[in-house]
Amino acid sequence: MARKLFVAGNWKMNTSVAYSVELAKGLAAQIGAVDSVDIAVCPPAVYLAGVCEALKGSNIAVGAQNMYFEDDGAFTGEISTAMVKDVGCKYVILGHSERRHVMGESDEMINTKVLKALSDDVLPMFCIGELLQEREAGKTNDVLRRQVTVGLEGVSRGDMQRVTVAYEPVWAIGTGVTASPAQAQEVHAMLRELLGTIYDAGLADAIRIQYGGSVKGSNAAELLGQPDVDGALVGGASLKVDDFVAIVKAVM
Ligand code: PEP
Repeated sequence: MARKLFVAGNWKMNTSVAYSVELAKGLAAQIGAVDSVDIAVCPPAVYLAGVCEALKGSNIAVGAQNMYFEDDGAFTGEISTAMVKDVGCKYVILGHSERRHVMGESDEMINTKVLKALSDDVLPMFCIGELLQEREAGKTNDVLRRQVTVGLEGVSRGDMQRVTVAYEPVWAIGTGVTASPAQAQEVHAMLRELLGTIYDAGLADAIRIQYGGSVKGSNAAELLGQPDVDGALVGGASLKVDDFVAIVKAVM
């Protein structure tokens, strides 16, 4: 099955009111009309409204970087799915390695968030990935299997079709070290097979699995040219118009 590539930028805790809008407008001017590739950007929560406004009328969607699983109430510092939708987001990144390893989010918490996002019609970009020591100990597949099995527990086949999986080896995030195309392909194929076991081959074939970890214009075509790599989740190179545009143009 031909899966449409999906390239998303994760701005993390970067930009400002002015720069987030400048970046969004710069992207809209250059790749806002692209429809052969799905494109999204994920600004910090406080800049979502401005970025959604700046991207209105373009094909570039907006995602939040995180959300909480309760509807409302005494959850200081958190944002809800209703807020994420209200401001104009289509997507939410869940399970990013920085949420897992810096903020201490568990597979179980991520699962609760995935279920909540889906029930409120916000589309999860569900991130998984092994640490360097886990890869070196030969535990990559075990770690990913656990993250997928627990993180997606209770997600129906129908809902799973609205999830994008993002494989992001932690050792490749923000380090300049990229998984080789062969390494990425090997893991993506394993993940697709795993999804086929949990759901079925048809579903596994339809799911998009993004790669994340030091993707840039110069390596995007080869990475995303792998048969099971269906897009990219981009950190550092999503913070400059030209860098992000180069990635999208390399895979159009
Ligand atoms: C990320 O944070 O999702 C990421 C892949 O970052 P970078 O592209 O900077 O490695």
